[in-house]
Amino acid sequence: MAIKIISDCINCGACEPECPNTAIYEGGASWTFAGGTTLKGTIDFGDGTTIDANAPQPALASDIYYIVPEKCTECVGFHEESQCAAVCPVDACVPDPDYVETKEELMDKKNWLHG
Ligand code: SF4
Ligand code: SF4
Repeated sequence: MAIKIISDCINCGACEPECPNTAIYEGGASWTFAGGTTLKGTIDFGDGTTIDANAPQPALASDIYYIVPEKCTECVGFHEESQCAAVCPVDACVPDPDYVETKEELMDKKNWLHG
């Protein structure tokens, strides 16, 4: 299950550097698949859609930090617990029920991001 940041976020920025997948971005900032991963060139999702790994993607939040679900592995493959949740002073990093994934799926995602 991906982690998401809720509106309690106070924009302290503590979580951003802790993410092993660079899945956390400041509100309003664009994100990329390539940032903090080994993904490069054209990514083929196998469903007819492709995307340039370096192409800036629209921010998912404008006023608080946000997590890109496609890049969050719940820290599986790197740490025993979610690092963002561990450092957040206001417990604003919580499981996102819209992105339920098994440990195996999270490990596959980690291997895809850092293949
Ligand atoms: S749970 Fe881990 S991988 Fe997901 S956003 Fe937080 S620090 Fe990044
Ligand atoms: S650590 Fe918590 S409060 Fe600080 S930016 Fe991240 S989500 Fe927001």
